[in-house]
Amino acid sequence: MQNILELKNIGYSYHSLQGETKALKNISFGVGEGEFVAVVGPSGCGKSTLLSIISGLLPPERGTIAVNNPDGSLHYPRVGYMLQRDHLFEWRTVYKNVILGLEINHMMTPERLAHVDQLLFDYGLDKFRDKRPSELSGGMKQRAALIRTLALDPQLLLLDEPFSALDYQTRLMVSSDICQLIRAAGKTMIIITHDLSEAISLADRVIILSARPAVVKMEVPIHLTLSDDSPLAARNAPEFQSYFNQLWEELGCERKEM
Ligand code: ADP
Repeated sequence: MQNILELKNIGYSYHSLQGETKALKNISFGVGEGEFVAVVGPSGCGKSTLLSIISGLLPPERGTIAVNNPDGSLHYPRVGYMLQRDHLFEWRTVYKNVILGLEINHMMTPERLAHVDQLLFDYGLDKFRDKRPSELSGGMKQRAALIRTLALDPQLLLLDEPFSALDYQTRLMVSSDICQLIRAAGKTMIIITHDLSEAISLADRVIILSARPAVVKMEVPIHLTLSDDSPLAARNAPEFQSYFNQLWEELGCERKEM
């Protein structure tokens, strides 16, 4: 698998009148085409900062982000961002919400609008296109948020604790559902989560960050024996518990050192 993104020695500090907060130090890792990577680490260690740098919102203070697309081109992958809340606007219909990104970016071409129609149909939301977000279930709102992101045809999806606003039961179903849809769409994903079970069940590889300033403490490739390939089934895989124990132990050391 070829890496589409390669982070080399990324460092970042926040500067304010109160002084300097070192967030990231020498972060290096690659992300393969189609790979799902989960990033876990103690609270406040710099996970969101890292995602902002990968998305291009924050320029890294030190280090480089190298891009190496499979076709040999060096353009930065188109990035889509999903945040902790779905951020659907109540004053717009579901349809008007999912085309918002296209509207803002002046990309309302017939092809892209047809793609949105297809996604609404595929994800079972076509009958809800004229409803308001409050009329949708938590899972349907996340699906709508995903369509809004996919409408811009990103190669790389960045998810910052996207399911943390949902109650536990809904979260299990929705995270499994959304990640299967992202896999089916052939996208690459980096997800930040503080839920170790979620990381193991969704990702091909888990990157553990140390306490601030964050360095990559360990990378754990996840290989589960699965009866079917849903993240929900992954939680019953025989290897699941030992991965959980390994991550828990590594993060436990970080908590003690904080
Ligand atoms: P995480 O996502 O792991 O919880 P963040 O990336 O949000 O961590 O933040 C890393 C550190 O940088 C924290 O100590 C946080 O308080 C600090 N920080 C984040 N944003 C700013 C900012 N705009 N100015 C100053 N410090 C910040």
